[in-house]
Amino acid sequence: MMNEAWKSANQVIALLEAHQYEAVIVGGAVRDFLLQKKANDVDVATSALPEQVKEIFSKTVDVGIEHGTVLVVDFEEPIEVTTFRTEGAYTDHRRPDAVTFVRSLAEDLKRRDFTINAMAIRPDGTLVDLFGGQADLQQRIIRAVGNPTERFTEDALRIIRAIRFSAQLDFKIEKQTALAMKKTAHFLNEIAVERIKAELDKIFVSQSPVNAFQHLEMLEVGPFLAGEFALAKKWADFTPVTDAKIAWTYWVILTDQSELLTRYKCSNAEKQFVRNSRQCFDILQQGQPTKMQLFQYDDVYWQAAMHCYEAFYASNYPDAEQLFRQKQSLPLQNSSELAVSGKDLMQWTNQKGGPWLKESLAAILQAVITSELANDIDAIKQWYLTTYL
Ligand code: ATP
Ligand code: MG
Repeated sequence: MMNEAWKSANQVIALLEAHQYEAVIVGGAVRDFLLQKKANDVDVATSALPEQVKEIFSKTVDVGIEHGTVLVVDFEEPIEVTTFRTEGAYTDHRRPDAVTFVRSLAEDLKRRDFTINAMAIRPDGTLVDLFGGQADLQQRIIRAVGNPTERFTEDALRIIRAIRFSAQLDFKIEKQTALAMKKTAHFLNEIAVERIKAELDKIFVSQSPVNAFQHLEMLEVGPFLAGEFALAKKWADFTPVTDAKIAWTYWVILTDQSELLTRYKCSNAEKQFVRNSRQCFDILQQGQPTKMQLFQYDDVYWQAAMHCYEAFYASNYPDAEQLFRQKQSLPLQNSSELAVSGKDLMQWTNQKGGPWLKESLAAILQAVITSELANDIDAIKQWYLTTYL
């Protein structure tokens, strides 16, 4: 698993060590390394203060200097370097009132959320595992570091993170941790929706969204999040996707709540995707799409709709191949391929532009798509002036 990011992180660590600072790889990268999975990003923790890190490296970006994080861009991959720190009191259940830099790695690991995320690897390759993270990885368990109720009360987002890691890794949530999640779920009211959405996006592309929805249901967490939650079992046949928008579509289909997207501050592109895919799903539900409907929606939406159809009915859409073949063989794939334009119509009729133009073009397009009319300027002119008008 020695990818570019690991190499860059090791270069960062070597230089910090050369300056007599302690430096390790921490968090998700260690977990993923032990699981022999490709890491998302490789983070470094160090005893050097942010100002000292900035002196050592030539190219750095202040990405979160108030939390002690500096991005080092000297090497192949950018590496986040964070000073060992603890977090002060959390009075609002989401952000520490202050962060305090500390000299010890142990203190830094103690503030991390779960045992599997609280390990470090030293430059000589030794694993620092103070909370039994490796054993929990082996037993496939998500367990809070320290007192779970305190940890979830400090930052309620950790409740959703536990559920997210469980869905990604297909791990169980340890009993006391799970009980504490249930007990503190009401604090989720205070968490910014953007942070929750980021976790939902990860749940949606995980191995097992159904696992996450079961936890949301069983631990009674769902009621403290925005939006309705359909029965978890409705997710049982939702096979993994790489694009979260497909899962958002399915969630909207299940709950019939397109407001979900606004409540979670989804982008316009996400909303548009869900709207189109949902319309395709509705069409599939009614049976065979018409040629015009096939023309109107791009393949991605039909694919998303079929994915949702498959989950919804626990069986494949019967005519998938035929649908794409039919779509492929439409006389036009795009309205720009139409042999005439508004200009032609204005010329033929000697009229100025206006709403009639759009209507006429739509009628011509429809006639061509349904093969009633050839996509040929003379044929269209004849049809337009005699049959249409
Ligand atoms: P991913 O593969 O999704 O990036 P990750 O474990 O790297 O997973 P990040 O959100 O990138 O997760 O956070 C990096 C590390 O920071 C975590 O492994 C964990 O040690 C710590 N961490 C992140 N968020 C929290 C939190 N809310 N509370 C405590 N520790 C956290
Ligand atoms: Mg990460």
